[in-house]
Amino acid sequence: MTNSLHINGEWDTGSGEAIPTLDPATGTVITEVASATRSEVDAAVAAARAALGAAEWAGLLPVQRAALLFRLADLIERNAEELAQLETRDQGQPIGVSRAVSVAGAAEHFRYYAGWVTKIEGSTTPVSFPETLAYTRREPIGVNALITPWNFPLMILAWKLAPALATGNTVVIKPSEVTPLTSIRLVELAAEAGFPAGVVNLVTGGGETGGFLTSHMDVDHVSYTGSTNVGRIIARASADSNLKRLTLELGGKAPSIIAADANIDAAVAGNTAGATLNTGQVCAAYTRFYVDKKREDEFVTKLAAAVSALSVGPGADEQTQLGPLVSEKHLCHVDRLVGLGRTEGAELVTGGQRLDREGYFYRPTVFSGVHDTMTIATEEIFGPVLSVMAYDGEDELDDIIARANNTEYGLAATVWTNDIRTSQRLANGIKAGAVFVNMPPVPDMAAPWGGYKASGWGREMGPQAIDAYTETKAVWLHYGQS
Ligand code: NAD
Repeated sequence: MTNSLHINGEWDTGSGEAIPTLDPATGTVITEVASATRSEVDAAVAAARAALGAAEWAGLLPVQRAALLFRLADLIERNAEELAQLETRDQGQPIGVSRAVSVAGAAEHFRYYAGWVTKIEGSTTPVSFPETLAYTRREPIGVNALITPWNFPLMILAWKLAPALATGNTVVIKPSEVTPLTSIRLVELAAEAGFPAGVVNLVTGGGETGGFLTSHMDVDHVSYTGSTNVGRIIARASADSNLKRLTLELGGKAPSIIAADANIDAAVAGNTAGATLNTGQVCAAYTRFYVDKKREDEFVTKLAAAVSALSVGPGADEQTQLGPLVSEKHLCHVDRLVGLGRTEGAELVTGGQRLDREGYFYRPTVFSGVHDTMTIATEEIFGPVLSVMAYDGEDELDDIIARANNTEYGLAATVWTNDIRTSQRLANGIKAGAVFVNMPPVPDMAAPWGGYKASGWGREMGPQAIDAYTETKAVWLHYGQS
């Protein structure tokens, strides 16, 4: 059993039930972590509350707080290979992805937000009152619960933790029970960097432990990334408790529009990457392909060849391009939806089954002849399943925009064309938090990330994350005769 509770600077195995965490490449148990109880969550929140006002944290000068974040970024880099191997073992992602995306991305986030600490400004406001100075201050929201999913555990935690700390908040982290190990290691590194006790707390566990946080009367903000269904539960928990602030990064079903004039080879390469990174377990993964029917056959043939040429295997193998799915449960979900694709009449071009070996490996799968209303075109699959639909290029662009927008989600979208007018009309018309033209979906710490519609509330990354972790106070000062 791993020490997986970190409360007020102390590590503990906790008193709750043990949850095993598995290696998805083999299905074997790596270790066990605690399911934190309500009283343990209460203790973590109390520690975060006490640390919020303590001189060791609240009294730090901005340059001193920035230095702690810079130090944590350095420590992530110094321990990069260990973190990458751990992420691959626990999550399954190819080691190259762990190194270049998860670990490097986490370090970059801490460095980027370390730079922000000394640039969080208020403003003076020209109020229409005589002899009155009005200005704004940006203050930390307070105690933040950071609840993360299993697909990019380390990187998504960094998306939340870096701006939370940069703005002077304190946190209680609750990683996914499926992939808790790199979050535990990151909290150890935060302690080594010198963040005072109580600033960064950690509790492990599943939905019940998460619920203790989201319904807690002394948590001021929940930053949550995960499924839309749980996002709805969290919104209710906030409404039924203290109306805590929410940042919700939820599911997606990103459309990819391939116009007749597109460079098909580039579109195939970019869409293969965009659909299969981390075995398709990416909220912004391209999943619904609308291709001009003049190029449909060529696109489907080349796409099927590209995805079936991917080397599938354990993430620890340097040659692997497609690792396992994260769990048996998730593999069953992907396989059930693929089965529905078949029975609802889509044509299976390649893939469509698990690999005959230990672990949770699934063949990358392409369907053609998909209709907009089929389950594979509407439900989030979160696996390496690509559904190709055709459109008539003679139609109005507005029609294809309407089809792309005909979903409850709105996280990401992509457009493949060499016509600047087409790209701009599509990019402006699609309702999604990010539209990528002629490229795969990539997060970058400087650009906002988040969803329209049921893909979420608020934005992470960029200057927008500073807003997510601060309250704005207006201060009014009458300096005339009183
Ligand atoms: P999930 O909703 O099952 O779990 C996410 C987290 O919420 C976990 O830590 C889990 O323990 C916790 N949780 C579960 N029930 C809870 C409850 N009732 N109250 C509080 N917390 C609870 O999601 P997942 O399966 O881990 O992740 C996959 C989902 O995440 C997909 O839908 C994907 O699209 C989404 N996602 C979105 C983004 C984004 O940026 N929008 C990024 C990555 C993943």
